[in-house]
Formats: sequence, structure tokens, C-alpha cells
Amino acid sequence: MTQSNQSLVLAGAGHAHLVAIRRWISDGYRPPAGTLLLSPTPQAWYSGMMPGLVAARFAPEQCAIELAPLCQACGIALVIGTIAELDADSRVLRLDDGRELGYTHLSLNVGSVPPQPEHTDGSVLMVPAKPFAAFNRHWQAWRERSDTLRLAVLGGGPAAFELAVALRRSLPMAELTLICGGRLLEGQAAGVGKRARQLLNKRGIMLLQDTRIDRICDGFLMSGKRQVKTADALVVATGAGPQPWQAPSGLACDDRGFVQVSATLQSRSHANVLASGDCASLPGAPHSGVYAVRQGATLVDNIPALVQDRPLEDYQPQPRALVLMATADGGALLSYGRWSGSGRLLGAWKDHLDLGFMRRHRL
Ligand SMILES: Cc1cc2nc3c(=O)[nH]c(=O)nc-3n(C[C@H](O)[C@H](O)[C@H](O)COP(=O)(O)OP(=O)(O)OC[C@H]3O[C@@H](n4cnc5c(N)ncnc54)[C@H](O)[C@@H]3O)c2cc1C
Repeated sequence: MTQSNQSLVLAGAGHAHLVAIRRWISDGYRPPAGTLLLSPTPQAWYSGMMPGLVAARFAPEQCAIELAPLCQACGIALVIGTIAELDADSRVLRLDDGRELGYTHLSLNVGSVPPQPEHTDGSVLMVPAKPFAAFNRHWQAWRERSDTLRLAVLGGGPAAFELAVALRRSLPMAELTLICGGRLLEGQAAGVGKRARQLLNKRGIMLLQDTRIDRICDGFLMSGKRQVKTADALVVATGAGPQPWQAPSGLACDDRGFVQVSATLQSRSHANVLASGDCASLPGAPHSGVYAVRQGATLVDNIPALVQDRPLEDYQPQPRALVLMATADGGALLSYGRWSGSGRLLGAWKDHLDLGFMRRHRL
């Protein structure tokens, strides 16, 4: 076990930290000596392009940002490791390999994990959409199979829809079902749900709506006592759930376990801790990459202000965000407020935005 007393720890190489680090490099700012970035992998995978990777529209190296060059350019040490526990009162992070990291200031940008059915007897392989490195390993194995794979995707939001159509393209022989607890793309513009349902039908993807899978038993996906479907594997893309170590950390968390922050992105209970992106809970800021990126722009100034004991700026969530969902053929569906649309031009726009993000944030 190693014990180090770092002054500033950036935990997680999420969208928000990438934005902040890249801006510090451009602006010539260097964080205090001893600052470190903690990440489970040497690359940061970009979620917006993961369905495109599965659909063979992008190569893996286009979808990930190498962290070492960014850290080197900014004078930050890169530590590969995964947080297993956080003790906010003692200011200690415990990693899953037993290492401990002390800090005086901490910025959390550790993303989220999709909530999974509560009970399983292990008879169906469960594959969360995140972390991507693990998801990719399973997907590669499915591509090698010669028998008919029975695959279900769980979730009714944009990520579940995108993954279902991408998996259809990658695994044309698989039996594929998309299972939503409510209605497909609930909360998006009304017209986009209809377009998505038509597309699933055209691509031979079975859609089950209003079906909450809460248990896996004897190879069946169960809704209460009802056997809904048999499957070999279940891809879980049910949106954002908190990292399990957040609620017991001592940080004030909401009733789901996300870290409650004020408008400055400071923890409501521990002023020396910032939290941004999916792991944070702030009214008006949904869990999505678009909001995480905007919070990164606030961290550019707020992390230095915190360590220098200066006043912090407020982050203002935008009232709504554009949602572009890739349809695995170069096209995309659009949802913005009550507007919906579809087509190749929207797909080209999404690619332009995603590839632009990657170009701006890697070295
Ligand atoms: C398939 C898919 C497609 C999506 N597409 C879009 C999209 O097009 N647009 C959009 O706005 N949103 C999209 N999302 C949602 C989006 O992924 C998240 O909202 C966004 O990534 C949140 O960013 P973040 O900055 O909070 O953290 P993330 O970008 O998720 O990064 C979190 C980081 O923390 C690290 N980490 C995780 N656990 C630990 C730990 N225990 N210890 C240390 N580090 C840890 C991870 O390795 C990762 O580097 C998609 C989600 C999925 C699953």
C-alpha cells in the first residue's frame, strides 16, 4: 500500500476534466506541483462515438483520447487506478488494488454506471454499456460467434436506441430486442419516438415497451413473475446510475447517490471537493455529455480558484440541449425541444461535432 499526500487529485478523465486540462494547456496554466489525474485506463473513451465504433463507422483509435500526452503537457502525473472507496472527512481515496491517495482538494468527474436489474442468478450474461473497455471485449467476442446470438438491449433513451441499431449492423444474424421500462425515447420530441420505432421495425429489431426487467432467472429476463424473453446476453444501457462508493463517502448525496453540488460545482457538504458531469447532482443539469462538457468550461477557472482560495464562478445549465442519435448508417435522428428530424445531413452534423470534440481535446 502506498500513501501519498497529493494536494489536488482530478479523479476520472471524464468530459469535464478533458475540457479543463485541454484549456489549461492552451492558456499556459499549470496546476500545483503534485497534481494528479486518476483514471482506470490510459485512454478516455468518448461515448458519443461508441455506437459508431460498434457500427464499424469509426476505428477504435478515433474514439479514444490518450491521457499521457495531455498530462505531460500540463505537468500533471497520470495514475492508473480505480476508486473503490472515498472517505471525504479523512480526505482519502482507496483504490481497488489497495493503494490510498490523500488529497487536500479533489475534483470528481467519474461518470456513472447504468442501473442493472436487481436480482440475477447469472444465467444471462449482463454487459453494462459502461465502462466501454469491458463492453468492447464482450462485443468483440460476439463478433466471433458462429451460432445465432440472442441479444437484448435494456433501456429506452438515446444511448440504448443507438446501441441497438449499431449492434444490428455489427451482428446481422443476431436476434435483437430492445426492451424499455417506459416508452421509447420518452422525454424527447414527440415525433422522434415514431421515427425511431419505424426504423427499429425496418431493421428487424423487436421493441418491447412498458416492460420493466427486474430479475434474471433460468435464462429468462423477468418482469415480476412474467418470463419476458430468453437471451444469451443483456446489454444494459439504462442511463446514469451513481458510482456505488459515492453514497457511503460522507459527501452529501441525493436520494439516488449522486454528489450534491452547488452552482459552483462544490460539494454541498465538503467545500474542498468539486463534482461535475454524470456523478454530480444539480437541479437543472441532466446527466448527459453535453452538460458535462459545459461544466468543464466552469472547472477551467473553478479548480484553480479552489486551490488558490479565491471566489468560484457559478455554472449555469442551458435550458435545453440538442440530441442527435446516430442511426448506424451515416444518418441521425434529431430532438430539440419539440422539434424532431432525421436524415443523412443530421448524421454528417453529428459526425462533425463528435470528430471536432476529439480533434480539439487530444494532443
Ligand atoms: C453508448 C452511449 C452513447 C452516449 N452518447 C451520448 C451523446 O451522443 N451525447 C451526450 O450528451 N451523451 C451521451 N451519452 C451519455 C454520456 O456518456 C455521459 O453523460 C457522459 O459521458 C458523462 O460525462 P462525464 O464527464 O460525467 O464522465 P465520462 O465521460 O463518463 O467519464 C468518466 C470517467 O471516469 C472514469 N471512472 C469511472 N469509474 C471510476 C472510478 N471508480 N475511479 C476512477 N475513475 C473512474 C472513467 O474511466 C471515465 O474516464 C452516451 C452514453 C452511452 C452509454
